Amino acid sequence: MNTQRSSALFKKAVGLMPGGVNSPVRAFGSVGAEPLFISKAQGDRITDADGNEYIDYVCSWGPDILGHAHPAVIGAVTKACERGLTFGACHEGEIILAEKIKAHFPSMELIRLVSSGTEAVMSAVRAARGFTRRSRIIKFDGCYHGHSDGLLVKSGSGLLTDSIPDSAGVPSGFTDNTLSARYNDADSVRELFERFPDSIAAVIVEPCAANMGVVAPGDGFLKALREITSQYGALLIFDEVITGFRLSIGGAQQYYGITPDLTVLGKIVGGGMPLAAYGGRREVMEQIAPLGAVYQAGTLSGNPIATAAGIAQITQLEQTPDLYEALDRKAAVLENAAKKAGLNVNRCGSLMTVFFTGNKVTDYESAQTADRGAYADYFRYLLKNGIYTAPSQFEAMFISYAHSNQDIALTAQIIEKYKPKEN
Ligand SMILES: *Cc1c(COP(=O)(O)O)cnc(C)c1O
Repeated sequence: MNTQRSSALFKKAVGLMPGGVNSPVRAFGSVGAEPLFISKAQGDRITDADGNEYIDYVCSWGPDILGHAHPAVIGAVTKACERGLTFGACHEGEIILAEKIKAHFPSMELIRLVSSGTEAVMSAVRAARGFTRRSRIIKFDGCYHGHSDGLLVKSGSGLLTDSIPDSAGVPSGFTDNTLSARYNDADSVRELFERFPDSIAAVIVEPCAANMGVVAPGDGFLKALREITSQYGALLIFDEVITGFRLSIGGAQQYYGITPDLTVLGKIVGGGMPLAAYGGRREVMEQIAPLGAVYQAGTLSGNPIATAAGIAQITQLEQTPDLYEALDRKAAVLENAAKKAGLNVNRCGSLMTVFFTGNKVTDYESAQTADRGAYADYFRYLLKNGIYTAPSQFEAMFISYAHSNQDIALTAQIIEKYKPKEN
């Protein structure tokens, strides 16, 4: 495969941006390659700067559940552009999108639109603290909630309760109020509440984890989180930035039948534009300015182009009755192919990860036993065969409705033929 032009662009990029990228996950360093520069995306295919075409299973990390450049979304965006790119004032699109969100996520009684998942999570946590007047929060090792200071933590080596910054530039004071628990281990959460019964504002969780690779919640895990938080007067926050509109049209909360107090949406909700949302119980959201004392604002929040894209995409989801069944069926074909190749695979709906470890992956610790070198070999094999997947062991493969049965079958054939490198 000739990737000369991508290489030339990458050389220029490294002189202009840290590592040549605008988000670290786009770098191919961990799989021993250079990033491809994409010039075009349509349906389930992306084309790089040298004209090579790939079947894409990154799908922009989740937003493109209908595939790239869906005509209904492109049409809505084009029309919206003609009316102006930003108003910095109220407009009807905000209402239509919020009504759609609320129709599918009834737990989101009041909603605020923002521009990124990071911003939405940060704001939801602030709302939880403002409402409960408590400082601490619990997050799970291996769950990602964007790059705000207080959420970039890893658990310390000693006590379960220790959290230390997981990034340079984050003072330890900024993470002192973030406690770490173990995914799929409700007892680790109970212990923290017993230790700090009156000072934990919220538990935040990816209801199906997809940022340590895909790790589904075990039986009763989410239910236990619901019960423990209610018992101690803390809030339960579902970070549904990936799972929202993906596991079902009503997200993980509908899929698993557990209702959180606050929900964070991103990715799919913006139809490929920079838009995210947070919302939840009315009395909690009434703490937000201008109603309440919790400040949060945004120049481009509820941007008319972004809301137009979100509305168009969600409308398509509503009008595609076989959508989730089809996504599940397509993903199952790939899962079975991976199993036939003897690979260890976790799948939840249209999210899946092949883990290069002999262990069952149920939390961050077991995920970390995966062999990154072995994944890198698998990644390069797929890419060489025209299949574009995440350049990291700890990300999901995203299946979209645009993945044709032929392309799924072709991908399955290629996966089945993979021979893991002996080491
Ligand atoms: C992507 C992601 C975020 C952050 O969203 P950005 O729009 O990248 O800031 C937060 N939480 C989860 C679960 C995510 O997958």
